[in-house]
Amino acid sequence: SHNLFETFAARMQARGDADFVTTREGRRYSHADALAGSARLAGVLVELGVTPGDRVAVQVDKSPEAILLYLATLRVGAVYLPLNTGYTGDEIRYFLSDAEPALFVCRPAVLDEARTIAGETGCPAVQTLGTAADGSLMEATASATPREAVEPREENDLAAILYTSGTTGRSKGAMLTHRNLGSNAATLVKAWGFGEEDRLIHALPIFHTHGLFVACNVTLMAGSSMLFLPKFDADVIFEEMPRGTVMMGVPTFYTRLVADDRLTPEVTARMRLFVSGSAPLTAETHQAFEEKTGHAILERYGMTETNMNISNPYDGARRAGTVGQPLPGVEIRITDRESGEEVPRGEIGMLQVRGPNVFIGYWRMPEKTREELLEDGFFITGDLALVDEHGYVQIVGRDKDLVISGGFNVYPKEVEQVIDELEGVVESAVVGLPHPDLGEGVTAVVVPEAGAELTEAEVLGQLQGRLARYKQPKRVFFVDSLPRNTMGKVQKNQLRQQFQDTYR
Ligand code: ATP
Ligand code: MG
Repeated sequence: SHNLFETFAARMQARGDADFVTTREGRRYSHADALAGSARLAGVLVELGVTPGDRVAVQVDKSPEAILLYLATLRVGAVYLPLNTGYTGDEIRYFLSDAEPALFVCRPAVLDEARTIAGETGCPAVQTLGTAADGSLMEATASATPREAVEPREENDLAAILYTSGTTGRSKGAMLTHRNLGSNAATLVKAWGFGEEDRLIHALPIFHTHGLFVACNVTLMAGSSMLFLPKFDADVIFEEMPRGTVMMGVPTFYTRLVADDRLTPEVTARMRLFVSGSAPLTAETHQAFEEKTGHAILERYGMTETNMNISNPYDGARRAGTVGQPLPGVEIRITDRESGEEVPRGEIGMLQVRGPNVFIGYWRMPEKTREELLEDGFFITGDLALVDEHGYVQIVGRDKDLVISGGFNVYPKEVEQVIDELEGVVESAVVGLPHPDLGEGVTAVVVPEAGAELTEAEVLGQLQGRLARYKQPKRVFFVDSLPRNTMGKVQKNQLRQQFQDTYR
C-alpha cells in the first residue's frame, strides 16, 4: 500500500534506539520509541471510533507526543488536521464545522470550551493532550491495546488537511495525499543532503507546513533527529547550535540572529545548513548572515497547498533575493495575469506549479479548487514571480498585494526595497488603498529606527528620483512594528484595513 506511515515505520525500525526527538528538559523518544508510541496512540484512536478517512483535528501546544499523534493518525488511515494554537473559540467552531472531524484533541486547559464547541458542531469525541506527555489521550494509552497494523492507503488518499495561513482571506483546507507528502519529503531529503547524523534545531510551530511536513517528514524519512523547542529564543539557539547540524527558520529568526553579537563562525561551525522560508528573506539579511558566519542561508519557496516547490541548491550558488530553481519533479510556468499566456523569461507573471507535491483540492470548496487548480495539473500559486538571468526564481509578491494605481502596476516589493535602504528605516510595507482618482493609492507604512526622526516629507523627498513617479507613495505612515503572524508573514490585510480611509 502507499500509506506514508509504512515508509516512516521502516526507517524508525531501522534506526531503533537512535534519537528521534528530544527536548531541552531531557525528554527523549528514540525512533523505536516513536514507532511503539504511535501504535499505542493508534490503539486509542481506534477505540475512540476513528476510522480510515476520518479527520482528527488537533489544536495542541508543541510536544513530541503531538508528532506521535500525527504518526498514529497516519497509521490508522485517518486524516491529520492540525490547527493553529492562536485560533480562538469562534475560529475553532468554523474549522470543526467545516472539517467534521471524528475526534478533536485540544489543550487540557480549554477542555470545557472545546466540549461545548464539539457539541455545537457535531464532533463526537474530545480528548486532551498537554506538553508534559499528559492529558486524557496519553492516559488512555495505558489501557488501550496497541495497534500494530498499518491501514492500507492508496497514493491519492488523504493524509492531512492543512488550513492555509489566511494571509489573503479566510483559511482554506488544503487536501494533501500520502503521495503529496511522501514525494516531497523524499525530494527534500535528497536535495538538502539529509542523513542519519543530522540533528535539526526545530523552533517552528508544528501546525504549519514548514514545521510539520518540511521539518518532521524530512527527519522521519532520513532517520535523523530533531530538538524540539517551544519557540524561537536566541539564547537557546546559540546554546544549541554547537550540537546541531541544520536549522529551519522563518526570516524573522535570521534577522534576529544577525542582529546578535553572538553570531560568529565559531558558534555555527558544526552547522551544515540553514534553511529559510514561509516569507521573503531580504538580500540584506542573507548577506549579513554570510558575512558573519560563512554560511549562505538556503532559501526555498513553498506553501500549504504544495509543500516545497522551488529551492536554492545545496551544492551550488545560493542567490540572495531568489528562491532558487524548481525541485526535481516540479515544473513551473509564469503566465500573464490577464491573458494567461506564458511570459518571456525575465518578465513578471503569475507563478504556477505542477508536480506530485501539488494538493488535490480545497476541502469542500469545489469552485475555489476549479479556479486555482487547472485541468492540466498546474496550480495557480497566487504569487507573482520572474525567472532571472541565472534561471533562478524571484518571488515578487502576492498577486493580491499588487497595487494598480492610475492603470499602472506597482509591485510593493520594489518600492519597499528602495524605502528600506533609506537612512533611519528598519523596514516597510507598501499597500494599495482605495483612491477616488487613481483606483488605488500607493501607501507606505514604515518602521523607523529607534531615535530616528524621520518625517513623511523626508521620506517622500528622498524617493523622488529613485522611483518613477507612479510608484512613489502618496502617503507615508510610521508604526513601531509591522503586524506579523507566527510564520513571520506581514499581515497586509490588517494594514489595508487600518489605513483604509486615507484617501476617502
Ligand atoms: P492564504 O493562502 O490563506 O492567504 P498563505 O498563502 O500565507 O495564506 P501559506 O500556505 O502558509 O499561506 O503560505 C504560502 C505563501 O507564503 C506563498 O504563497 C508565498 O506567498 C509565501 N512564501 C513562502 N515562502 C516564501 C519565500 N521564500 N519567499 C517569499 N514568499 C514566500
Ligand atoms: Mg496562500
